[in-house]
Amino acid sequence: MTMRVLVTGAAGFLGSNLTDRLLGEGHTVVGVDNLATGDAENLAHLATEARFSFENWDICKPFDFGPVDYVFNMASPASPPGYLRLGIETLRVGSAGTENTLEIAAKYGAGHLHASTSECYGDPLQHPQKETYWGHVNPVGPRSVYDEAKRYAEALVMAYHRSRGVNTHLVRIFNTYGPRLHASDGRVISNFMMQALRNEPLTVYGDGNQTRSFCYVDDLIEGILRLSRSSEHLPVNLGNPNEFTILECAQAILEVTGSKSELRFEDLPEDDPTRRCPDITKARTLLGWEPQVQLKEGLRKSLEFFKSKAGDAEGLIA
Ligand code: UDP
Repeated sequence: MTMRVLVTGAAGFLGSNLTDRLLGEGHTVVGVDNLATGDAENLAHLATEARFSFENWDICKPFDFGPVDYVFNMASPASPPGYLRLGIETLRVGSAGTENTLEIAAKYGAGHLHASTSECYGDPLQHPQKETYWGHVNPVGPRSVYDEAKRYAEALVMAYHRSRGVNTHLVRIFNTYGPRLHASDGRVISNFMMQALRNEPLTVYGDGNQTRSFCYVDDLIEGILRLSRSSEHLPVNLGNPNEFTILECAQAILEVTGSKSELRFEDLPEDDPTRRCPDITKARTLLGWEPQVQLKEGLRKSLEFFKSKAGDAEGLIA
């Protein structure tokens, strides 16, 4: 059955990749984005796609773009520099904006999936993180605008499920990368890729021994679609459980790009989690889902995109 689907944050990294996948499955997509951190270029290839329409709109203001069968709420600044710059907007999109998407789902009897985050666990004291862990979050630190917005949004989604019977889903997304990851929004993979391709030093924050686990975008989108079709309403982690230190990540990027860039150590940002790794037992069991693409392979698949972004830089690696 093909659906009419609303995707908020459609011009973002995940929103645009999800939109492509939904269109590929034959659905009609209404993409919404106010382009606060999204990039219209991510949707430029859909200009002549009859099953796609775009609404330049801030979802914090009430909206109704007609009946839909499903709502994917992917809208939010998501990189640390992005949400530090847009703190109040980040809190509002997690609260008022998310509530507006839930109202649409309630009105049209549509399914709803909310993009939550591993940041709900804060700087976790349990490793790896299971969905049942309640987290270790600084409610007033610099990251609180993102972490608390996402935690509030999870409470809001559960309330719409429990009180209004909306068919909701919550995905806790761990670090994800791939084509369309914003080239200059300060995330580690995009920073290192761009720096390596430009033969500039790779900026390692702290001693580089903090860990992250990186999931390739196609794997994540597959998991999101499987969750959206499931009957699970409580949060489900999606991410790649292979944990890398930031130094190992730098090494992998040097290898894949063939760059001779050096490492430059810089201060660790405040409240930067020291370890992060998903326990994906629930996704494995419930969705039969498992990431297929490992880090170096995923970096290779992303190379063309980052080269196109680094394009006009001096000293670009061929
Ligand atoms: N990081 C780094 N150099 C950079 C950007 C990030 O060493 O140029 C580190 C950052 O301090 C963090 C990790 O890489 O420990 C992942 O950072 P990112 O901003 O990608 O996302 P986070 O997982 O912190 O939300």
